[in-house]
Amino acid sequence: MPGIDGIDLCRAIRTNRKDSYTYLIMLTSRSETEFAVEAMNAGADDFIGKPFHPGELEARVRAGKRICELEQLLRQKAIYDALTGIYNRGAIIDILDKAVARQQRDHGGLTLAFADLDHFKQVNDVHGHTAGDIVLREVARRMGQVLRPYDSLGRYGGEELMVVLPGCEANSALEIAERIRKNVCAEPIATDFGAIHASVSIGLAVLSEGMRSTYGDLIQLADRALYVAKNEGRNRVFLAA
Ligand code: GH3
Ligand code: MG
Ligand code: MG
Repeated sequence: MPGIDGIDLCRAIRTNRKDSYTYLIMLTSRSETEFAVEAMNAGADDFIGKPFHPGELEARVRAGKRICELEQLLRQKAIYDALTGIYNRGAIIDILDKAVARQQRDHGGLTLAFADLDHFKQVNDVHGHTAGDIVLREVARRMGQVLRPYDSLGRYGGEELMVVLPGCEANSALEIAERIRKNVCAEPIATDFGAIHASVSIGLAVLSEGMRSTYGDLIQLADRALYVAKNEGRNRVFLAA
């Protein structure tokens, strides 16, 4: 190949493409074992010498496809919460961490909304855990419904959900949080165990221009605001000072 050889191309793909896996089959006229070893060390997954049999190439592509599909499935399981389908704890914290770094570089605002279901233990106690699970899933769906495309929703733990709102100062943060809160409690959630009313309390922490905070500071601040929202009667939004 002109410009770059197969070995260097494998290396380049392996160093640059980190978001999804690229399966590489080296097809070459050099059939020595040493070359195959070099290609695989450079990042190739498989190796076929020329002249090749089309049936063999097809079979090897199929094997590669199986591996890619498995990789995608694992990636999916690693970042999404099994019950709600939203980001899991690790993923949402990672998103928040990156959003904080971006905010420090580009300025502008960043808001973390920390939401907790109100009296959720009672839902489990009265209607059972299966009903609780349905409610939790529906609350996550309703929260996601009113977000902007670049906002991220995740499950921090138990019945605590987080929204990362980039480019969001206090005013718009309050507006979005109110929209979330209202959408959650707008109507009871239909389950096989009856209609169940749900609401969330939300604590907001805004990272404004010039503030030097870590994602941990932001979580702590939002958590304290959430505590106030709970104390003031639940089903409300409180913005940390
Ligand atoms: P508060 O308004 O103060 O937040 O009251 P609460 O009852 O929501 O708070 P508490 O911390 O006492 O209870 C949280 C409950 O959430 C207890 C726990 O069993 C339930 N929970 C956490 N994760 C899940 C889950 O995945 N499924 C179900 N069904 N329940 C869960
Ligand atoms: Mg809780
Ligand atoms: Mg709760």
